[in-house]
Formats: sequence, C-alpha cells, structure tokens
Amino acid sequence: MDPSDAPPLHIVCAACRMENVLECPPPNFIPRCANCRRNLPVDAPGVTREITAAEFEQEVMNCPRPVVIDFFSSREGGLRTIFEMVALEMVGRAKFVRISSKDNPDLAGRYMSGHCPQMVVFKGGRLVGRRTGEQSESSLRAFARAHCVL
Ligand SMILES: [Zn+2]
Repeated sequence: MDPSDAPPLHIVCAACRMENVLECPPPNFIPRCANCRRNLPVDAPGVTREITAAEFEQEVMNCPRPVVIDFFSSREGGLRTIFEMVALEMVGRAKFVRISSKDNPDLAGRYMSGHCPQMVVFKGGRLVGRRTGEQSESSLRAFARAHCVL
C-alpha cells in the first residue's frame, strides 16, 4: 500500500492542548506542536499504546502501516522509554503498540518465541521480524527501520 494512504496521527499537545495532525513525516523528524512549538509527548495516544487481544485484528492485522509490537511482562524497564522514543521518530511510517504477555497469553503463545521483552514486526498481517531481549536505543532503531521502510 502507498504510505500516503496511511491515516494521519492525531496527537494532542500536553502544553497547550492543541490537536496536531501528523502525516508521513520525513525520517528523524521530531514532532513539535504547531501552536506552541514544544515537542509533542512521546507517550501521546497514537504514538505508542497498549492493546489487548480484542484489538489485535484491527490494530495489527488490518493496519496499512508496519506494526512494531513490544511484548512485555509486568516488569517495566528502560525499554519502554526507548520504544517510545523510536516510535516518535517514526510517526506516520509505522505503528508502535505494546502488548502485555501476561494479560494476553493467547497472543503471546501464538506470536512470541521465547521470553520477554520481545519485539515483533507485522506487515500486511504477517510477522516479518523478531528481536528478543533488552535492546539499546540504536539496536531498536536499526531493527524498526530495517522492517518499516515504506
Ligand atoms: Zn502546543
């Protein structure tokens, strides 16, 4: 699918509450609020969010963009911050979602191989990449970019 067909993301600025609409930005673009010029929040809905098994079909299998999934266990690590930073850099080109392996054992059993934390990438409803274990920022960025070139 042509990336220009991907739906734009709507991110609300945490400072001035203005809604920013982001369409396919260039690589390494850091989204800033069009109104107050502050950086948009990395944890804004639409940049990364946690999804459940009930949403998997719609959010992952039917997504026109590549989807990077962070399968996580209950332990919160530095990986979440890194994941959100890389997600922000790739706004409009890939979707980043988080799935609790503990709360969604069926999804974890079907799509995970080995233990958490684990990143997988889906494209057009097919699993095309996997990375297991803690990641540095540069390795997660390289992994996401390698699988999300549009
Ligand atoms: Zn603002």
